[in-house]
Amino acid sequence: MNSEKEIDLSKAVLQKIIFPEKINVDVFVKRFDLIHPFINGNKYFKLKYNLQYAKENNFNTILTFGGAYSNHIHATAAAGKIFGFETIGIIRGEEHLPLNPTLSFASKNGMKLFYVSRSDYRKKNSEEFYAWIKKKFGDVFIVPEGGSNQLAIKGASEIPSLIEIDYDYVITASGTAGTLSGLIVGLNNYKKVLGVAVLKGAEFLNKNVEFFTSKTSKQKFNNWSIVHNYHFGGYAKINRELLIFINQIEELNEVKLDPIYTGKMLYAVYDLARKNYFEKNKTIVCIHTGGLQGIEGMKDKMNFILSGKI
Ligand SMILES: *Cc1c(COP(=O)(O)O)cnc(C)c1O
Repeated sequence: MNSEKEIDLSKAVLQKIIFPEKINVDVFVKRFDLIHPFINGNKYFKLKYNLQYAKENNFNTILTFGGAYSNHIHATAAAGKIFGFETIGIIRGEEHLPLNPTLSFASKNGMKLFYVSRSDYRKKNSEEFYAWIKKKFGDVFIVPEGGSNQLAIKGASEIPSLIEIDYDYVITASGTAGTLSGLIVGLNNYKKVLGVAVLKGAEFLNKNVEFFTSKTSKQKFNNWSIVHNYHFGGYAKINRELLIFINQIEELNEVKLDPIYTGKMLYAVYDLARKNYFEKNKTIVCIHTGGLQGIEGMKDKMNFILSGKI
């Protein structure tokens, strides 16, 4: 038995969070960051049925896309190594050597990295790009950026069944809203589901939810919304206030948050609670979607900001 294979969902404890100031709701974090050292958070749920499908259909190779710090690239590389697939990563932008910690890990786990210009990367879902992939790599199983496809939504729809308490809201950070869509489908109009957009001007996420949920279920869902004002200036943009908050949460709770996704999500929950967005005494479950591998690649920037120089 290879113990590395064992993704252990029982490690995802539900932890009550203490905030720097008292708020009038109970907030818990469901610790999916703890289920496996590399294949964890929402990326585990998004990959689960993709890996199964690839195996059942005899694909040897999984090809996917991402930025140079992508949690999805990191998780896919590890999953390929552990579950016996070749992996190919199409990376946005130019190669920078030495490789950053994310891509170095991916490469060490056997992922072959191909860099495409930002303008070509934007065409990654086009017929033309798919034809190029087929010509260059042959019959590979293609997983979209961030892992978000129907199989990913199916995986993420299993998250609510793993939450062991009664609650009023479930909340996740949203990049493509694949995870949010899975939560909505899984809850089937029960509870309230909230996404915290981590990109600026990401109103398209609302359309993504409509698209993903309508493809997965015939139901119409109206128990969800997305907050669009906690991106801190845009994707991977951070400031001192956010970093101080993340450090306070870690000190008070021994929970690590990344500044790109889960830090912004929990900051949003804290801020919304202080503004009485939630009714008093409600119970909120926040999904820890993992992403802690990304901290290493941002360390210098984080230390610089915390040192007070900007
Ligand atoms: C990828 C990722 C998300 C975003 O998930 P979507 O399904 O794309 O919305 C959230 N949190 C973390 C830590 C991630 O790595």
